[in-house]
Amino acid sequence: MTRYIFVAGGVMSSVGKGITVASIGKILQSKGFRVTAVKIDPYINVDAGTMNPLEHGETFVTDDGTECDQDIGNYERFLDKDCSSLNYMTTGKVYLSVITRERNLEYGGKCVEVVPHIPEEVISRIKKAGKEEKADFVLVEIGGTLGEYQNVLFLEAGRMMKLAEPKNVLFVLVTYLPIPRMVGEMKTKPTQNAARLLNEAGIQPDIIVARSEVAVDEPRKKKISMFCGVDPQDVISAPDVESIYEIPINFEDEGLGNRILKKFGLSPRKKDLQDWRKLVKTIHTKKREVRIGVVGKYFETGDFTLMDSYISVIEAIKHASWAEKRNPVVTWLSAEKYEKNPSATKELSSFDGVIVPGGFGNRGVEGKIKAIEYCRKRKIPYFGLCFGMQLAVIEFARNVCGIKNAHSTELSSAKNMEPVIDVMEEQKSLLKDKRYGGTMRLGSWACVLKEGSLAKKAYEKSGETKSVIYERHRHRYEVNNKYLPLIEKKGLIASGTHPEADLAEIMELKGHPFFLGTQFHPELKSRPLNPHPLFREFIRACIKARR
Ligand code: GLN
Repeated sequence: MTRYIFVAGGVMSSVGKGITVASIGKILQSKGFRVTAVKIDPYINVDAGTMNPLEHGETFVTDDGTECDQDIGNYERFLDKDCSSLNYMTTGKVYLSVITRERNLEYGGKCVEVVPHIPEEVISRIKKAGKEEKADFVLVEIGGTLGEYQNVLFLEAGRMMKLAEPKNVLFVLVTYLPIPRMVGEMKTKPTQNAARLLNEAGIQPDIIVARSEVAVDEPRKKKISMFCGVDPQDVISAPDVESIYEIPINFEDEGLGNRILKKFGLSPRKKDLQDWRKLVKTIHTKKREVRIGVVGKYFETGDFTLMDSYISVIEAIKHASWAEKRNPVVTWLSAEKYEKNPSATKELSSFDGVIVPGGFGNRGVEGKIKAIEYCRKRKIPYFGLCFGMQLAVIEFARNVCGIKNAHSTELSSAKNMEPVIDVMEEQKSLLKDKRYGGTMRLGSWACVLKEGSLAKKAYEKSGETKSVIYERHRHRYEVNNKYLPLIEKKGLIASGTHPEADLAEIMELKGHPFFLGTQFHPELKSRPLNPHPLFREFIRACIKARR
């Protein structure tokens, strides 16, 4: 039998619903249950592939090529399991299925209405995830904040499920308790209001996860309990923590896992958060630093810095650094600054290693190329992820191979441009017809590693004995094989290739401590207890270079 736990958020966005879902999942998993999670994004966008990272954060990609919300990355990292299209839906995706079905006369002449047909479609998707994954628990994260118009139909789906199976459905409300500086006291009123908004949707919360800067004390737990109608034991204190990986342990120490099981009339089948506790201990142990500079453009918003756009990259750096017993210090470096003032790249010598992550479009590109040139010449470990690999090839073609006008067709249409990075043949008609959504090279692709290469050794060190590996992609452009012989002759070799379509997947430079780029996104497959081989090798090179 499958049980369903809905998680909704009140008071403000970014209160940590995704991490709450991932952490509850982790605890239930550690107690011996099969868990899956579904994220509902209220956007009309059919998937996250068409959303700007500055607005929506990172686009995560699963093996089956679903472009989804960054929370799916959290689910994968916490639950150590691969997600798929089953784990993600948006308003756009839901409406698209209903409308397609209507056009196919599958509603048998009925009037198709927002209610109940939209919530019914949502319910059927949630149930499908539970069934296909044979899950004991499906955790459902309702995106957005209570009080918004756009998530009402998803709450309605939850309400309908509770009505149909009252014993199998539970609601968790995640809220925020502010401590206004001039008052100095933690305030519960916004939480009370959030609970009421949930009540308006016909839903009573079973558990309230109370996020705040510090732990929620007993008097406030009692107050929340009284005004929101939950047992004081079901008010879970969730203070800010240094590392998100502590949260399952905090929840467990607050008794959340067993409270949930009790409500469903279940008891733990086993108890094992050992690995996880060990990980958190490593995170907290005092360690030497490894300093990584990330050159990008998706983090400046007004006076604030956003980290969401590169979340998997940051997490992958952390996982690898912890495994190498180092404390990672990540610094954001503005590509546009280097573009305006190339001599500013000098600051890169103060880092142990530099990463240029994925990206699209021209803004900041010449700055990134300058940064790559600096790392290549000064032998600073450099790791290029997708766009970061393409730009390394452009830099090398221009400055080492003498192809002065080397560029990518994505970035220049000049007549004399030499497309060392070019669009694949099958992509051309898609672009011509403006079919942008969900049409990039996506998801898991095979890559054959070259014997004796740095890449092959890195995977071997992580226990990978095969020479074929699988990694996740999200891009439209590729290394142009026309230029590859010259580029390889000069020392930048394709050490990983997709054999069927003859595509360069990994490029690495001989005679450099670490100058390597991947056409895929290795960061998407890094897990806290199983860091990605290439990130690990990069961090090893950074540590060595520093010595
Ligand atoms: N813009 C490049 C492409 O589409 C790189 C994409 C990426 O970094 N994910 O090929």
